Amino acid sequence: MPDCLFCKIIERKIPSSIVYEDDRIFAFNDIDPQAPTHVLIVPKRHIPTLNDISVEDEQIIGELVRRAAAIAKDKGFSETGYRTLFNTNRGAGQSVFHIHLHLLGGRPLHWPPG
Ligand code: AMP
Ligand code: ZN
Repeated sequence: MPDCLFCKIIERKIPSSIVYEDDRIFAFNDIDPQAPTHVLIVPKRHIPTLNDISVEDEQIIGELVRRAAAIAKDKGFSETGYRTLFNTNRGAGQSVFHIHLHLLGGRPLHWPPG
């Protein structure tokens, strides 16, 4: 997707602080972190929103979630707690239309998030 910010980050046309990469997933630090750790975990394949997920995407969604848990373990807060979330569409705060799993940790996280 030529005009997609996260596709450009994945292609390294725009710099990012990379946390993890494999052939299907890219993870990088959020530019405006809302917690001491705020990582975005994205599929390399362009998928605009969760509403566009098909049965073929079930594996990649599982990989995003498992990678979030692995990063949380690496960062040392897998036992104390962390939050993972997808914002879907503007009413929930989605601003980049390439799905991304937010991983937040390193501070107490309250509920509801607002
Ligand atoms: P959302 O609002 O759920 O779509 O999340 C988009 C996230 O992307 C926000 O938390 C932004 O701070 C983050 N973001 C926007 N531009 C960049 C960038 N160039 N590098 C890293 N994170 C970014
Ligand atoms: Zn994209």
